[in-house]
Amino acid sequence: MEFTTLTESDKQRFFKKVNQTSNHDECWLWNAGKSKEGYGRFRLNRKLYQATHVSYFLRHNIMPASGQEVCHKCDNPQCVNPNHLFLGSRSDNMNDCYKKGRLTQIYKGKAKGERNGSAKVTNEIAEEIRRLYNLGIRGKSLTSRFKIHKTNIYRIIRGISYQNNASRSGDPMRLITS
Ligand SMILES: [Zn+2]
Repeated sequence: MEFTTLTESDKQRFFKKVNQTSNHDECWLWNAGKSKEGYGRFRLNRKLYQATHVSYFLRHNIMPASGQEVCHKCDNPQCVNPNHLFLGSRSDNMNDCYKKGRLTQIYKGKAKGERNGSAKVTNEIAEEIRRLYNLGIRGKSLTSRFKIHKTNIYRIIRGISYQNNASRSGDPMRLITS
């Protein structure tokens, strides 16, 4: 990705193609040209960019490096809400983004409605945290993705408060979130 800045008129042009809602938890759907996979496309300096990459750039001021992808937590290719986007590493597994998004969704679904500041961490999520950690993903990328306090993230990684044993599978652990 080559661009390092967007002009005000580029930004306006971009947001005209987005159905933004006042609720920032909802998906912002791209209402202009899309790829056949359903990803929004945005023309900039005579090149086509993935709308999610532009949205990610506008929020974080960084472009995905080669080997990285902008993934959806919401599994909605049309969505460009930066709150729903995260950077993932490209892998041989084509469903990698999808899978990560699903797991975050599963987690969010479980966490929803919790009022006591604690959330459930299932086998799947603990495994996903370990997998990402092994890929070199650390710190804020993990805590913000899973909404789990870093102390607990590292407990999961070290396997201290979480035991992956068959008798407990399906019995989610409770962990305190920040
Ligand atoms: Zn979304």
